Amino acid sequence: MVHCRAMSDWIPVIGLEVHAELETGSKMFSPCPVVDSVEAAPNSAVDVVSLGLPGTLPVINRRAMEYGMMVGLALNCEIPPVNRFDRKSYFYPDLPKGYQISQYEHPLAINGHVDIGLADGRCKRIRVRRAHMEEDTGKLTHVAGGFSLVDYNRAGVPLLEIVTEPDLASAAEAEAFARDLRAILRWLGVNSGDMSKGVLRFEANVSLRQPDDPDLRTRTEIKNLNSIRHMTRAIESELRRQRRLYEKGEELRQATLGWDEDAQRIVVQRYKERADEYRYFPEPDLPVVEVSEAWVHEVRARIPEMPAARRQRFMDEQGLQAADAQQLTSERAVADFYEAVLESGIEAQVAANWICGALFALMNARETPRETIGELRFGAAAFAALLRMVVDGTLNRGTATAVLEAMWESGADPQQIVRERGLAQISDSDVIEETVDQVLAQQVQLVERYRAGETKLLGALMGQAMKALRGQGNPAAVRQALQQRLDV
Ligand code: ADP
Ligand code: MG
Repeated sequence: MVHCRAMSDWIPVIGLEVHAELETGSKMFSPCPVVDSVEAAPNSAVDVVSLGLPGTLPVINRRAMEYGMMVGLALNCEIPPVNRFDRKSYFYPDLPKGYQISQYEHPLAINGHVDIGLADGRCKRIRVRRAHMEEDTGKLTHVAGGFSLVDYNRAGVPLLEIVTEPDLASAAEAEAFARDLRAILRWLGVNSGDMSKGVLRFEANVSLRQPDDPDLRTRTEIKNLNSIRHMTRAIESELRRQRRLYEKGEELRQATLGWDEDAQRIVVQRYKERADEYRYFPEPDLPVVEVSEAWVHEVRARIPEMPAARRQRFMDEQGLQAADAQQLTSERAVADFYEAVLESGIEAQVAANWICGALFALMNARETPRETIGELRFGAAAFAALLRMVVDGTLNRGTATAVLEAMWESGADPQQIVRERGLAQISDSDVIEETVDQVLAQQVQLVERYRAGETKLLGALMGQAMKALRGQGNPAAVRQALQQRLDV
């Protein structure tokens, strides 16, 4: 008899496999340069080792190992004292040697975890099973007429494969993990996180289970997900597909799947009848890598304060709210900029307000990514000088925003802009009172309505007075002058 289960009984089980290229100058096993595989001319960064020509020998890239260790440590992994490379054999035209040098039994890093934030504010620990070093393959482009073009620029680029335990219980959790992992890689400066260029790639293993199942069930694997959003939608769609199958009483077949983003549909690429046979064996051309405690210690010392720790410090030591602290640690460059503004003597909340407010608004309007905040025409010291003029009353919010825009265009220093444009705030009570008198004389109707009880009209009168003062009036002084005259 077919057992029908209610939809709500099914619990998603998801594990991620992540491939991250490491941004070293040269490839994993040779001095051949690593280039941008989208921008560079095809096959312009290829040498005898990345082509796997007979008689060539690989040499391990120390920097790549250290980048991998940094990621492992940032993911709270252990770094075992011995790690070894293995040959993983398979035939495909993007793999000229006929095998990939990878790690199997002795990976670089094991037993880590990432604590992700859930929508309800709680944290959940996702275990990281392992992270191992390998080399990337070349890239195939299929063209009309049944031909494929191959570009070996990417062949041999250092690649770190990170594998989680199947601890993720929803597409949303998988998304949160992916975003945190991407942020960690970017923060460490080992990977740009640019998924459109394929430097970071996710594969999702997906199954469903019942609360009383003794073991995990058959899973499918979704490959080639080239954005976090696509991954999330693909997982949701696959969970629905599996649920429908089980509810019809059918079996799920283990399969490799793709995601068709245009059709919003899962595509079966191949069914897996048995495990792939890669004939792993120790790579005879490379030594075993012994990782001493001293080396791990040295690499650990190079890891910057990570986003979660920095966020907490901004809250504990500087009294910021979680939302501001979160925004200011979204990119390492933003956190650095913010702290440099504080070093110029600006109060934490003022700096946070102006960075998350006016500056981010301007950066959005000019389509400038936040990670480039350190490369604007003005630096943190000039931004701090602008804020000092707000704090001491030289500028009001509106004029400060105008000065910020001028700094953006010319890179000129804010005091100079204020001097040249005569933007300093008008606090002189004679000037303000004279202007307010003129405005009230012109706006007889508004004044009558205000006095008849429409007190909301104070805003409109404020606007007129500020306009007459070319936006430079001290708002508190203008308001006071208006009220004194209106409320008699
Ligand atoms: P291997 O491919 O080496 O046999 P596993 O199959 O155990 O390794 O795991 C590969 C990935 O699939 C891991 O990220 C793991 O968390 C995930 N995974 C394993 N079993 C399941 C399952 N039943 N449902 C969902 N994900 C799974
Ligand atoms: Mg692999």
